[in-house]
Amino acid sequence: MGSFSFLNVARFESFSDLTESKNSPKSSFVFCGMGDRPSNFSFSDSETMQTTENLSSPLKPAKESHFLTQNPHLSELPPTQGFDAKHPPKQELIDTCVHCGFCLSTCPSYRVLGTEMDSPRGRIYLMDAINKSEAELKPATSQHFDTCLGCLACVTTCPSGVQYDKLISATRPQVERNVPRTLGDRLIRTLIFNLFPYPNRLRPFLVPLFFYQQLGLQKFARSTGLLPKIFPRLAAMDSILPEIVLDSFQDGFPDVIPAKGEKRYRVGMILGCVQRLFFHPVNEATVRVLTANGCEVVIPKNQGCCGALPAHQGQEKQAQAIARQTIESFANLDLDAVIINAAGCGHTLKEYGHILQDDPHYKTKAEAFSQTVKDVNEFLVEVGLTAELHPISEGELAIVYQDACHLIHGQKISAQPRQLLQQIPGITLREPVDAALCCGSAGVYNMLQPEVADELGQQKVENLVNTGAQLITSANPGCSLQIKKHLDLKGEDISLKHPIELLDLSIQGRKI
Ligand code: SF4
Ligand code: SF4
Repeated sequence: MGSFSFLNVARFESFSDLTESKNSPKSSFVFCGMGDRPSNFSFSDSETMQTTENLSSPLKPAKESHFLTQNPHLSELPPTQGFDAKHPPKQELIDTCVHCGFCLSTCPSYRVLGTEMDSPRGRIYLMDAINKSEAELKPATSQHFDTCLGCLACVTTCPSGVQYDKLISATRPQVERNVPRTLGDRLIRTLIFNLFPYPNRLRPFLVPLFFYQQLGLQKFARSTGLLPKIFPRLAAMDSILPEIVLDSFQDGFPDVIPAKGEKRYRVGMILGCVQRLFFHPVNEATVRVLTANGCEVVIPKNQGCCGALPAHQGQEKQAQAIARQTIESFANLDLDAVIINAAGCGHTLKEYGHILQDDPHYKTKAEAFSQTVKDVNEFLVEVGLTAELHPISEGELAIVYQDACHLIHGQKISAQPRQLLQQIPGITLREPVDAALCCGSAGVYNMLQPEVADELGQQKVENLVNTGAQLITSANPGCSLQIKKHLDLKGEDISLKHPIELLDLSIQGRKI
C-alpha cells in the first residue's frame, strides 16, 4: 500500500459549497481531469477487472459508453453465474448512471486504491455486467464490492441522482449468499457479527480486555509489533479498542427520565451497542441535554442493537431480526420521536422500511417507526434549544466538527450540528479540507480492510489537525475510535468529544 493517493483531485471547496451541492451538485466541486476517466475495461487472465486509461477519450452519452459496447469480446463469453433472483440490484437504477465519472474523486476507496473497479462507476459497471451474465459473481469480482466503504459520498456527488446506496445495499446480501469466503474471512466475520451487535454478549468479554489493558499486556503486545504481521485484522481490532472503564459494565438508566421544567416532548432514546459500552458519557450527556430542553426521555430496557453492523455488511436475516426487536422495544410508548446519537445507527434506523420490505407483518410498522427516528442534532435544531448556554472555556475555543458519512451523506445532516455548536458562547468553528471524505471507519470496515482504512484515517486526522483547532468533535462512535487511533499514532494530544457532550457542558456551565 503506497501513500495516500489523490487521484483526479476533486474536493469539496468549503462547507458552504457542500451545502449548496444539495441543490446544485455540479457547481459545488472543482473537477480536475474529467477527461482522465478510465474509458475502457477488460477482463485480465486472472478474471479480475482492470482499467486502461484513454486520456483523450471525450465524454460519451450513456448508450455509447455502455459496458458491452466498449467490451465487444464480452458478448462472446459463455453465460456465467450472476445475481440470484432475490432483489438483485435493479437494472433501471444501474441504467441511470451515465458514466460521467464525477463521483470518482470523492470516492475514498478510489482515492486510495486508484483502480476503476474500486470506484462507484466501476462497481456500477460490474453490477451491470453481473446482472447481464457478462461477469460472474465470485471472489475476484466481489472483492470490489468489499472495498466499498458504504460512505455514500458518491450519492451526494452524482449529478444524475444515481441511487448507489440502493444498488450497493442490494449487492451486499447477494455477495454474502453466493460468494464463498476464505476461512480467515469467515472467522473474523463470525466473531464480529455474533458479538458486536449484542451488548449482553460483548460485555463479558470486557472483563479479560479490562485486565489486558490494566496489566500492560496491550502495551506489550503493541510494542512487539507482531500482531499486525500474524493477524492483521485482530491487530486492527486491538488498535481501535478504547480504554475499558467501569461505566462499560452497566447501563444504569431508569426507564423514564422526566423533563426539566415544562414538558414539551416525550421521546424514546436508543442506547446503541458500541455507544453504550464504550461511550457511556455520550449517552448520559444526551439524556441531560434532552431533559434540560423539555423532553421526557423513555429508555426501554429490552432494546438491543439497531442492526447497523449486519445491515451494512449484507447480513440480511440478522439485520431483519434485530430491526423487528427494536421496533417491538419502542412499540406503544406514545413517543413524539425516537432519538439516536450515533450517525451509523441513525441511518439504519431510518432504513427499517427497506430492511423489512418483504415482511408483511412488519413492513408498515417498520416504515412508521423509521418516520419517528431523529438524529439528536436534527431533533434539537427542529425543536429549538430552550436551555441557557454558557461558555465552556476561558476565552475563545477553536473546534473542528468531523462529518460522519452516515450523517452528511446518508441522512443529509451537516448543517444542524454546526448550528448547535455555534450557539455555544466562545466557540469558533473551523472547517477541514475534504470535510466530506470518509475517515475510514465505516462500521467494521477498518477491521475488515485495515490498510485502506489506515490511509484514510491518517489523511483525515492530518486534515483535522491542520485546522489548528483545539478540540475535535464527532457524532459517530466508529469515527471517534478511528480518529483517536490516528491522533495517538501521530502523537497529537487533542480532545475528542461528541457535539452533545459540548452542549451538555455548556448547559451545565462547566468548562472543558
Ligand atoms: S454514479 Fe453518477 S457521478 Fe458516478 S459515473 Fe455514474 S452518473 Fe456519473
Ligand atoms: S459508497 Fe463511498 S466507497 Fe463506496 S463507491 Fe460510493 S463513494 Fe466509493
